[in-house]
Amino acid sequence: MKLQKVKGTKDILPGEAERWRHIEEKIRGVMARYNYGEIRTPLFELTELFAKGTGQDTDIVTKEMYTFPDKGGRSLTLCPEGTPPVIRAYLENSLGRRFPLVKLFYIAPMFRQENPQAGRLRQFHQFGVEAIGSPQPQMDVEVISLCMDIYQEVGLQGLQLKLNSIGCRDCRASYRERLKNYLADKSERLCADCQVRSVKNPLRCFDCKKEGCQLVMQEAPSTLDGLCQNCREHFQAVQNGLTDLGIPFEVDPGLVRGLDYYTRTVFEVLSSGLGAQDALCGGGRYDDLVEELGGEPTPAVGFAAGMERLLLSLNEAEETARLGPDLFLISLGPQAQTASLQLIHRLRKIGLRCEMDYLGRSLKSQLREANRQGAPFALIIGKRELESGEANLKDMRNGQEQKVSWADTQRIYSRIRGKDTEKPPIPM
Ligand code: AMP
Repeated sequence: MKLQKVKGTKDILPGEAERWRHIEEKIRGVMARYNYGEIRTPLFELTELFAKGTGQDTDIVTKEMYTFPDKGGRSLTLCPEGTPPVIRAYLENSLGRRFPLVKLFYIAPMFRQENPQAGRLRQFHQFGVEAIGSPQPQMDVEVISLCMDIYQEVGLQGLQLKLNSIGCRDCRASYRERLKNYLADKSERLCADCQVRSVKNPLRCFDCKKEGCQLVMQEAPSTLDGLCQNCREHFQAVQNGLTDLGIPFEVDPGLVRGLDYYTRTVFEVLSSGLGAQDALCGGGRYDDLVEELGGEPTPAVGFAAGMERLLLSLNEAEETARLGPDLFLISLGPQAQTASLQLIHRLRKIGLRCEMDYLGRSLKSQLREANRQGAPFALIIGKRELESGEANLKDMRNGQEQKVSWADTQRIYSRIRGKDTEKPPIPM
């Protein structure tokens, strides 16, 4: 028999591994800026942890786990997701007793026995965060903005952020009853799985991709109408916070997420280039999980994001991302070239991707080169600009020009990266 890798797994070969490392470094860089500490938990845990944590009726636990007995007869499971192990480690190591707010991140392989297809594997990798200890909506906003910053950092654009609130333990219970009643006489229009879900866990019917079920759920009472006053205010504050940070989102009352532990905020990031498996990342608040796993009541919020899907999306976007500097410095004459070299050095240090001319080309052909490389901005420095200290920053997409003091790297940075990033990152 020819030895082959297990179905649904992948070898990451040299070349490809460099891409992984590059992305992982970017992720770690953003995590450090947000002050999240890395946690590494074992690849396998007691099966019980996921039954309790992820939820006894979830697809992950009922259908997808790699579970096996060890020689001592204990039931062990290869981690299908990161949150329960992190919370177990948080409790076991008394992290909450030492710090009132614990902010952790991980990058780790996960295992789920699903049908493999593009973007869906049996061993895949997730990066994720868990912020444990704060009930405040600002914490949700930080977690979401961290996630979006990672995608921006690696050069993914055009993503869709979907947001919803599914309420707290109290208001969700009465909403579930309303939903159950609504579904009670519609069971013949639901698929076999949803017929069971409509009784056991009716919110899960929102997740079903079957057309008949989706039609039924379109008419269902909205998750948002079921929120109590506190949850409504919390959700509003999360939305306001995201708006203040300039992070676009779309409220989707049908977004419930497939796990049991979520409360209040839930969110997903989707990428249009991914086809059927379009979810890059999912997360939300889980205010009851720490208590359910044996700790004191402790609010928490986090997300998990797929590495393979991120890399797949980057494949689509990569050509432009790799070729395209943020800024092309156009220099006319040797003196301007010397000044440009110093300026580009400072701009790169604060995080801008920049390019300049090293071939002594004419203005026209430097502009052509900036276009060819897909640079959205060009800064033109010639003799006049050297004397006046001011130069035109040209938006190559619409031809508009604005005057900037060309030595002012902070100003140039914020003009290029947009209002939401007034301050450049700390030089790495
Ligand atoms: P989930 O918690 O199941 O929503 O997973 C979070 C993210 O992990 C998803 O949005 C995907 O990017 C990724 N993911 C989940 N399952 C798989 C899988 N079987 N293969 C590859 N990536 C996955």
